[in-house]
Amino acid sequence: MGFAERIVAYTRVRPFNHKELHGNNCKPPCTHPVVDITSERTLTFNPSKLKVVAPVSRFSTARTRVRYDQHYEFEGVFGPESTEEEVYEKVAKPLLETAIQGSNATMFAYGATGCGKSHTVSSINERLAEDLFKRIEELSASTQFTVKVSYLQLYNEKLIDLLPSNAQISVESKPDPTSDNSNNHNMRKIKRNGLYLRDVSNSSAESSNQIDIPGMTEYEVSNTDDMHELFHRGNKNRCVATTQANSQSSRSHALLTVKISSHNKDSDVAKEASLTIIDLAGSERAQSTQNRGQRLAEGASINKSLLALGNCINARAKKSPFVPYRESKLTRLLRFSLEGKCKTAMVVCVSPSISNFDETHYTLEYAKRASSI
Ligand code: ADP
Repeated sequence: MGFAERIVAYTRVRPFNHKELHGNNCKPPCTHPVVDITSERTLTFNPSKLKVVAPVSRFSTARTRVRYDQHYEFEGVFGPESTEEEVYEKVAKPLLETAIQGSNATMFAYGATGCGKSHTVSSINERLAEDLFKRIEELSASTQFTVKVSYLQLYNEKLIDLLPSNAQISVESKPDPTSDNSNNHNMRKIKRNGLYLRDVSNSSAESSNQIDIPGMTEYEVSNTDDMHELFHRGNKNRCVATTQANSQSSRSHALLTVKISSHNKDSDVAKEASLTIIDLAGSERAQSTQNRGQRLAEGASINKSLLALGNCINARAKKSPFVPYRESKLTRLLRFSLEGKCKTAMVVCVSPSISNFDETHYTLEYAKRASSI
């Protein structure tokens, strides 16, 4: 199977949303598709068979580079009709099994705001919580398991515990004085001292790249309901703010880590592995969302982090001897996943609409590079 030492990339094309279906001043209409799913593993971007009379460049800033029939191949392509179960079974279930067997696994969702990252990650996390304890039950005759959960947010390069032990997070509504966005009363601020990353210096080569996060809260959980509860509590604490791109735009990266320790009663073998599910912040460029003030600063920071991730992915894809993991907290955190000591899957989420021409093209290219690692 295609997991060995490379990022396995999947694409998920969400259904048309309300705005695309009912926006009436678009030419060509926003319901005009920009991708054609050609098989379970392939799709064509800007297909000539769907060529429109009105120029595509209306939706693209890269006018001269608009080409038809750009083909992409991924480990899997999920169309608008794909079910949550299907996505879970193909993408996340193998990662869970990997972690149960004692190897680390990571999944991250990448894409522009509003393209379905949180939707996909939430449904995966829900199913993961059910499946994990079902598997633990099945294996309980021979193996004893301990499960610990932590949930972190990376927001403007600040690392925040979304599940602090004694409710230190306060989520409040507060106007943002630096923003000229009239919707800024929707902004919620999380007041909490950030966590920091510490490199674990260990003589063992296997663990020398690991990161320690002093003070991070971990909860031991013993059933699906407790895990769901933690996940929902963490989500409430996630920093969200209104932007012009999406009223529920997520400006932060969220990292849910499930640490699975096992002890085989017969062989006396103990194992420990982590499964990390990451909902990345929107990958759109700051200028394309017309953000201002605070929102623009956030955009720049999100881009710094995602840019750093892109740089690391590029360096790895080119087999460069230097990979700039230290450029951002996200890449420091993900180093372990990108170095091939971990099974890593990426789900890139895209809109089906021609109105997202540039973003979808950019996202597919990003995924193509990542999957060549
Ligand atoms: P993102 O996290 O990328 O900003 P969301 O996951 O919040 O995007 O998705 C934006 C909207 O589209 C939400 O209302 C979500 O429920 C809906 N949506 C996204 N993907 C799907 C899907 N595959 N099926 C149905 N609705 C979806």
